[in-house]
Amino acid sequence: MSSIEQWSCPNNRPVSMVTGAAGFLGSHLVDRLLLEGHCVVGIDNFCTGSWENLYNARTVGRENFIFIEGDILGEFKLPSLNYDYVWHLASPASPVEYRRLSLETMLVNSAGTQKMLDIALEHGAKFLLASTSEAYGNPLVHPQPENYWGNVNPVGERACYDESKRFGEALTLEYHRRYGLDARIIRIFNTYGPRMQVNDGRVVPNFICQALQGKPLTVYGSGAQTRSFVFVTDEIEGFWRAMMSDKTDGEIINIGNPDEYTVLEFAGIIARLCGVELNIIYRPLPPDDPTRRCPDISKARKLLGWHPVVPLERGIAMTIDYFATQNTVLPTINKN
Ligand code: NAD
Ligand code: UDP
Repeated sequence: MSSIEQWSCPNNRPVSMVTGAAGFLGSHLVDRLLLEGHCVVGIDNFCTGSWENLYNARTVGRENFIFIEGDILGEFKLPSLNYDYVWHLASPASPVEYRRLSLETMLVNSAGTQKMLDIALEHGAKFLLASTSEAYGNPLVHPQPENYWGNVNPVGERACYDESKRFGEALTLEYHRRYGLDARIIRIFNTYGPRMQVNDGRVVPNFICQALQGKPLTVYGSGAQTRSFVFVTDEIEGFWRAMMSDKTDGEIINIGNPDEYTVLEFAGIIARLCGVELNIIYRPLPPDDPTRRCPDISKARKLLGWHPVVPLERGIAMTIDYFATQNTVLPTINKN
């Protein structure tokens, strides 16, 4: 037996397995689970995550944390434990990264999800799928409730992400129906905060780092498209409640912030909070970039008693502080 298989969890704590543990959200979830006294088994292949995130999640030297470096699609050894919770977060999440890793993204969200569902089933564990507001595509219904089926281009440049997440959702609910797996799906809306990869190309790191470097902010298209931004601690509280609730078996729940901003408004907020003059350079809009994005969170409020509590300006200020400590080389989705 390898040392990983022999690893044991002290004091009969609840056992959580987290895929994508070295990512932005995964590392914050690990942080929270350790705080809650769980024994945590984290897995990641670092395709978009980092050791630094694991370090910042205060995992170093913790007797109730073990990390497995590996691809969830490949062979890996797990500690011989009884798993209570499987949190499946592994997947690139930024448009720049899922384009770069298009096939890997499709596989981790399809075959990877099935592998995690099988582990949950084998252990009688509760399962949570980290899905996305991208499941709604370019929505024709606004704000988006969970029962909206979406408007997705199934063969476009974003399809590697959108469609594979939608398939992962269908698979999850099929395991719930066929095998009675205790499973829930959360649709995550744009989340920001410390530990985002500085160079992953998303609007929050791009704008903040551009402003901090005195560069113009790259607005794609006219900037009239909207997004709704939720701070990471609010998002993780939603994860926690969705998993721990006894009312979420078989449910899909939006976890996001219903305050909606145009990208142009958002650029103005970032410039102001970074203490610089707003200076914009316009770039072409990437294909299939959704025009509007805003969650209907009535279900999360009702089922989980959850709503976001961190105001945008406070969350952005904390994120600016974080990025100010990072070295940055910024990509934009448009190479020109
Ligand atoms: P992230 O890229 O920071 O984290 C994803 C992690 O998964 C990375 O550490 C990466 O190395 C790991 N990973 C990817 N493929 C893997 C594989 N095959 N095997 C092992 N590890 C693998 O992204 P994030 O923002 O933390 O997103 C986490 C999850 O939340 C993703 O499933 C994403 O789709 C979902 N989500 C995030 C957002 C957001 O705004 N951050 C929005 C919607 C959905
Ligand atoms: N965006 C932008 N400039 C950037 C990065 C992104 O104008 O430097 C826009 C992007 O076109 C989209 C929105 O900001 O309309 C949010 O993009 P992001 O990549 O953060 O996430 P998405 O919500 O598209 O998955």
